[in-house]
Amino acid sequence: MLETEKTKERVALSAKNMLDEGLVVETWGNVSARAEENMVIAPSGLDYKKLNFTDMVVMDLHGNVLEGKWKPSSEHPLHRLIYQRRKDVNAVMHTHSIYATTFAVARKEILTVVEDFSQVVGGSVKVADYAMPGSHKLAVNCVEALQDNSAVLIANHGLVAVGKTLEDVLLTCKVIEKTALITLYANMLGGPVVIDEKHVQKLHKYFKEQYGQRKQENK
Ligand SMILES: [Zn+2]
Repeated sequence: MLETEKTKERVALSAKNMLDEGLVVETWGNVSARAEENMVIAPSGLDYKKLNFTDMVVMDLHGNVLEGKWKPSSEHPLHRLIYQRRKDVNAVMHTHSIYATTFAVARKEILTVVEDFSQVVGGSVKVADYAMPGSHKLAVNCVEALQDNSAVLIANHGLVAVGKTLEDVLLTCKVIEKTALITLYANMLGGPVVIDEKHVQKLHKYFKEQYGQRKQENK
């Protein structure tokens, strides 16, 4: 169980990071990570600033609570379905950040108009069809719109980012938020120019394989 205990600490820290970065208001939004065959998810409605690893909830992917004194985040069906469908995903972050949610409200996808976005996200962020918060239908709609991508917008609601680590999903949420704002500004100047798909793929490949110290670490 050592791995699950460590994951609880890391999910609690990620919830605080999400708040510090201004990606959520109060206790809306949520974060989870895969822990062995289960998931660790933040509890519902607790103050993120005071979250401790002992507040985390461990659930299996069928919806049974295995550990924890609190109710899990109400969006647990969404987190569970993503882990079931995407074996490559170990972390899920859901935010209500203002600019990404603006696109979700307008039901417009966020396009590959900035290089860092293209590097990190690797493609446009599509909008899932509307469904009630916390519902199985919302989970199904999100997974369908997400496909193999790293993020999806939930219509009239917010953003979901998926990735290999909690650090990855935080970065994805931040870069998407920045790109949503830049796109809004660019619209005042006549509209952004979308980066050619061929270049987006190159940028994304570069980020995954060579950005920063990655190449040395891989040696
Ligand atoms: Zn939400």
